[in-house]
Amino acid sequence: MSRKSFRVGKSKTGLGLFATRLIPKGEFIVQYRGRKLSNAVADALADRGNKYLYELNSRWTIDGANRKNVARYANHSCRPNAESDVLRGHKIIIRSIRKIQPDEEILYDYGKDYFKLILKPIGCKCQKCEEKRKAERAEKRLKAKRKRERAAKKAAKALETVAKRARSLKKKALKVKAATGKATATRPARTVSAAKTTGRTFAAEEQRKAA
Ligand SMILES: [Zn+2]
Repeated sequence: MSRKSFRVGKSKTGLGLFATRLIPKGEFIVQYRGRKLSNAVADALADRGNKYLYELNSRWTIDGANRKNVARYANHSCRPNAESDVLRGHKIIIRSIRKIQPDEEILYDYGKDYFKLILKPIGCKCQKCEEKRKAERAEKRLKAKRKRERAAKKAAKALETVAKRARSLKKKALKVKAATGKATATRPARTVSAAKTTGRTFAAEEQRKAA
């Protein structure tokens, strides 16, 4: 299969390379082309924001910033389906590391240095990192929810304790009231019976008088 296997297309982060047919595992996809620079010159370009520098070895770097270098459109992924490799010390190629389906984006790992210097500060947009962040957000939400639930439970318990105390205080107060109530209730009863007695006495006196 020597026919070109990719096209440049719109990706999540700008442009990307997409498979135009099934690419079997281990197939050459595209060469990463550019002028060869000494690492000192490349470092100066990197300081000016060139993100397409591919270091070949301790002496040389390929500057792939030219738009004719279509390989520069292949995006980074921490879960890649392709890889880059240096052949004979100077030729950079991108090849598949697993079967790539038609229309699937061709992605390779840009390496630790690129990740640390360029991707990490802005947050890697690859699917793996997006999923990781999503999982972390879900975990955070779950933790917050558990914290809220614990707080609510604690508050309910505190409220229950207060209610219990209030009930027991009320009971005590009722007992006290009942006790004092009995004391005051007996007095008028005695008065009534005294009046009754007086009344009876009075009535008996009247009867006697009448007789
Ligand atoms: Zn990533």
